[in-house]
Amino acid sequence: MKITAIETQVCHARMRNWIFVKVITDQPGLYGWGEATLEWHTRSVVGAIEDISQLLIGEDPRRIEYLWQMMYRQHFWHGNGIVRGTAISGIDLALWDILGKIHNVPCHELWGGRVRDYIRLYCHLGGGKMEDFYETRADDASRFGELAQAAVEDGFTAFKSMAVPETMPLEGMRPIRYAEACVKAMRDAVGEDIDIMVDCHARPSPLMGMQFAKALEPYGLYFFEEPCWPEAMDDIAAIQRAVKTPIASGERLVGIAAFKDMLEKRAVSVLQPDITHCGGLSEARRIAALAEAYRVALAPHNPQGPVSTAASIELGFATPSYAICESVHSDVPWRQEVVSEGFVVEKKGRIVKPNTRPGLGIEINEAVVKKHPFRQEVLQRSFYADGAVGDW
Ligand SMILES: [Mg+2]
Repeated sequence: MKITAIETQVCHARMRNWIFVKVITDQPGLYGWGEATLEWHTRSVVGAIEDISQLLIGEDPRRIEYLWQMMYRQHFWHGNGIVRGTAISGIDLALWDILGKIHNVPCHELWGGRVRDYIRLYCHLGGGKMEDFYETRADDASRFGELAQAAVEDGFTAFKSMAVPETMPLEGMRPIRYAEACVKAMRDAVGEDIDIMVDCHARPSPLMGMQFAKALEPYGLYFFEEPCWPEAMDDIAAIQRAVKTPIASGERLVGIAAFKDMLEKRAVSVLQPDITHCGGLSEARRIAALAEAYRVALAPHNPQGPVSTAASIELGFATPSYAICESVHSDVPWRQEVVSEGFVVEKKGRIVKPNTRPGLGIEINEAVVKKHPFRQEVLQRSFYADGAVGDW
């Protein structure tokens, strides 16, 4: 059995281009789907996959770990950056899909079987619509309460919000009070039985991140995400020590060594590898094993397309430390035309029946993908009040 081709198929889905990866074998009808979506770097990822696919053509797709090592190590640069993270991840997901199909079992059964009955989902307020964030941030904290209420009415028992505004490295009380007002509006709207998460997008400086974390501590957040740059891991650890709120981070880390550093520093209570960037399901499973050793929960980053979601759910059903799955609330109305999924969602709040189809349990409708070809994403820019470049 041999890999004969690795294709990428780009599908423009409003704010990002989904990059699907199809690994094709010499066995009739046997192929696997992966995903390597990386916003604003579509052409780079497609090129990187084309580059490393040369290593895999003619190889046996069942030797996933051997092929992962090939992709990672057969470059002087250890396949850094987009290659090491995103391109390897996309191909790795497709290889696991193929292995499940060969053995006619879902991936979670390859990894030891189901460890839970259902997987909880959370949504992002505003459905990932950037324009909503901008509207919301503009002035009105009470809008957060309305969005929170709508998420609960949609069936979610947990949601995430961007309640922390962009700030310069040092600012006074105003943004702190605004974040407090937003979180209070959400808590007042949904009560204490619903879990609220706040994502800072790593925009605050460590100092501002600490102030936001302390100000929001009384509201009992489920977790407080990326309070400052992941490069400042010691500062994230200091924030985690200063508050009882669980701190979450890890969506921008690539490779097990970076996750080991984060865990060793006791920087987080929730680890958020992105399965399409951290090194694929192969690396995510190693990261999950590390997290287990530290008794740290796993909540993978998952704002991308449907193959990423299917991979995250397969991992979740086989991984004890997996706490909750990020779900895309409503990115494009034709999402379900692109994919056929094997799992069953109860309203929108949880996956109640795991996938029983082989592999990742999905089929991508390539004709629908072709209807939505690559488009340049709208470049998002962020500046501080004084015109200096900020973090988006
Ligand atoms: Mg995030």
